[in-house]
Amino acid sequence: MNRPIYLDHHATTPIEPAVLDAMMPYLTEKFGNAASRTHRYGWEAEEAVHTAREQIAALIGAKPEEIILTSGATESDNLALKGIAWSYRDKGNHIITATTEHKAVLDSCKALEKDGFNVTYVPVDRLGLVDPDDIRQAITPHTILISVMYANSEIGVIGPLAAIGAIAHQHGVWFHSDAVQGVGKIACNVDDLQVDLMSLSGHKLYGPKGIGALYIRKTRPKRIRIHPLIDGGGQERGFRSGTLNVPGIVGFGKACELAQSLWPEESIRLRDLRQHLYAGLQERLDDIYLNGHPDQRLPGNLNLSFAYVQGESLLMSLKDIVALSSGSACSSGSTEPSYVLRAIGMDDTLASASIRFGLGRHTTEEEIDTVIHAVVEKVERLRALAPASDLQVGSQI
Ligand SMILES: *Cc1c(COP(=O)(O)O)cnc(C)c1O
Repeated sequence: MNRPIYLDHHATTPIEPAVLDAMMPYLTEKFGNAASRTHRYGWEAEEAVHTAREQIAALIGAKPEEIILTSGATESDNLALKGIAWSYRDKGNHIITATTEHKAVLDSCKALEKDGFNVTYVPVDRLGLVDPDDIRQAITPHTILISVMYANSEIGVIGPLAAIGAIAHQHGVWFHSDAVQGVGKIACNVDDLQVDLMSLSGHKLYGPKGIGALYIRKTRPKRIRIHPLIDGGGQERGFRSGTLNVPGIVGFGKACELAQSLWPEESIRLRDLRQHLYAGLQERLDDIYLNGHPDQRLPGNLNLSFAYVQGESLLMSLKDIVALSSGSACSSGSTEPSYVLRAIGMDDTLASASIRFGLGRHTTEEEIDTVIHAVVEKVERLRALAPASDLQVGSQI
């Protein structure tokens, strides 16, 4: 049987063959520890890590020495938030973030609240955007860090980072961004976006799982202090001890190099494909609503609510044809409506009727046509089974 069409690229992406090829030698004969200084095994591993660090840095306009390699963006988010909090607690105990952040940021904040830090969760508007003025107004003399994501993994909305970064720096506050969904998909330069710390993940840009990075700006104008989460051998300049995952790092570097050359064209192709998908569904189905911003969104993201349909039922009826999700894989397992959709003011009925389409590098127009056909058929069938009076839609939109 054919495997279902993959439209869940926000959850993870397939590894590129060229990435796997680059990794292979470091899983076999070049197995050295990058910290071994006395022989060729160590030297070749160290050199490969150095090259990868340059490739990762180049993609975001950073310097190689500003890249701290981690086990993934969950760790990067934890390191940024807890690392800053613990090293600046003599200066202040207040952090500002937004209600639609990834769980790795929100739950790091919750953990810090238990330890005596205060966190302001700034709300977003109905399109999912944070208002930089709300951030400005939340700043107090005790504020040490602002953390706002670049592109949302559920509704794809792209945040106004440069404006927030400018405000942070006027007030002498560090600015972190979880840019996992944006890096390698849209323009992402740490200077243009005015960020001091940025989280990246390998497996969201066609690299391997279990590898990520935290960009830490070298000076602005002072050096940023980060309290490590993991103590040990002092790798990564003491910010993150542990033997480096050389094959993962090499793959991550290669994936970044590929993304840098591919994203400008790829983003246009994906935006057009997404518009094709949206138009195809709109043409054939009534009562579907777009969640998030119409243009200020990731090219490969389409999040729709299908009124009178249970999202879970729709996903299950489509599962042999197309792999889709109702939202974050990290909150899956719970049947609660998405906290992101709630945060944009959506009622629970419509929120639970939502589907996220995540298009990617290898998605074809033919696949999109198959998906349009299948979704239309299943939505019509489900709607015919459930009379409108049984599934009331609120006044939303
Ligand atoms: C996937 C994701 C993460 C977590 O990254 P891992 O490398 O899987 O730990 C964090 N933030 C966002 C926005 C993500 O999409």
